[in-house]
Amino acid sequence: MDSYWKALEASDPDITDLIVSEAKREASTIRLIPSENYVSEAVLAATGSLLTNKYSEGYSGRRYYEGQQFIDPVEDLAVRRAKDLFGAEHANVQPYSGSPCNLAVYLAFLDPGDTVMGMALPSGGHLTHGWSVSATGRWFRAVQYGVRKDNHLIDYDEMRDLALKEKPKLIWAGGTAIPRQIDFAIFAEVAKEVGAIFAADIAHIAGLVAGGAHPSPVPVADVVTTTTHKTLRGPRGAMVMCRTEHAKAINFAVFPGLQGGPHNHTTAAIAVALKEAAQPDFADYAHQIVANAKALAAALLERGFDLVSGGTDNHLILIDLTNKGVFGKPAAKALDRAGIELNYNTVPFDPRKPFDPSGIRLGTPSVTTRGMKEPEMVKIAEWMDKIISAPEDDDMSKKVSGEISELCRSFPAPGTINA
Ligand SMILES: *Cc1c(COP(=O)(O)O)cnc(C)c1O
Repeated sequence: MDSYWKALEASDPDITDLIVSEAKREASTIRLIPSENYVSEAVLAATGSLLTNKYSEGYSGRRYYEGQQFIDPVEDLAVRRAKDLFGAEHANVQPYSGSPCNLAVYLAFLDPGDTVMGMALPSGGHLTHGWSVSATGRWFRAVQYGVRKDNHLIDYDEMRDLALKEKPKLIWAGGTAIPRQIDFAIFAEVAKEVGAIFAADIAHIAGLVAGGAHPSPVPVADVVTTTTHKTLRGPRGAMVMCRTEHAKAINFAVFPGLQGGPHNHTTAAIAVALKEAAQPDFADYAHQIVANAKALAAALLERGFDLVSGGTDNHLILIDLTNKGVFGKPAAKALDRAGIELNYNTVPFDPRKPFDPSGIRLGTPSVTTRGMKEPEMVKIAEWMDKIISAPEDDDMSKKVSGEISELCRSFPAPGTINA
């Protein structure tokens, strides 16, 4: 790999400088964006490999291009490891990312104009589950369920009533801002009752599921989609798993329905990440993510923060900042200046707009990869409290950012460069 780096340095110092700067930034800040992580150097190596050179439209043993002697076994390994890790009957590792992966599910089972049911974006759902601005909301008839106003949990009764009334052909569970466990069995029952396909999107929680720190939808769902780069800690990519009966439809939807050649360097890196996720220490990692999130949530609650649903069961925390007198965006920007990175986010029933919402979203996958534990979570809550209490205080920001880089030096992150 070193030779690749030297070549890059020689041919493009501008890009090299930017990558090095990002490697230093990722080393010296507390990264709390719940969809991000630090992949291993092994995953980085596979991602940066010359498998990017090869075209291989089709599937193992049935390709449209010659020279697949080593690509077929790479994809076979990735598929086998995905099936073993999640206990799935069938897996397709070719989707380019989570959004096209979900589109493939629509293509496999729906015609334009058919009804799809998913969680509304402001309640924590994903754009691709039928939100209006997404292709999935424009080309299909989308109906959306939400969370209850009193406890911010999924309103399973509302979801069932909506399904009985609207008769969707496809029902999604999962999302991007859900701090609590999802009861996949209820969704499966409702889908069965109305004759819908039940698709669980575990993009955020796949690593927790793999490590046994969150119940798996695989036994009850018709289809399970996931990204590979969030808690699963692999390269940017996605997979779709399903029962054997749907394997043909899913494969045909991914290729030739939606995509051309698979990204073989990514497939190799997915295989590496899946092998890592099958090791016993990955289960420890998954459980520590949740323990850290619970510790961080408790420390934030002690400091008067208003957590959506009152806490967390997984890797993710959503905070409504209304009672702190700060909006989500200025809070996120102030925290970023101090070395804590998260994102502003709408909260359920948010009276404000998505580009300037009331809340912030954070999570523990990245800090847990660095080896941080409960005591560090308390420190993070203290720093967040100081910055959010005085978002314009430059001296405080400098003080906190100094303390953060010091802590970060004790918890090196894979692939990064300590400044
Ligand atoms: C992140 C995410 C996606 C989309 O993944 P991309 O790789 O960003 O396209 C889909 N569904 C859910 C629930 C997600 O969290």
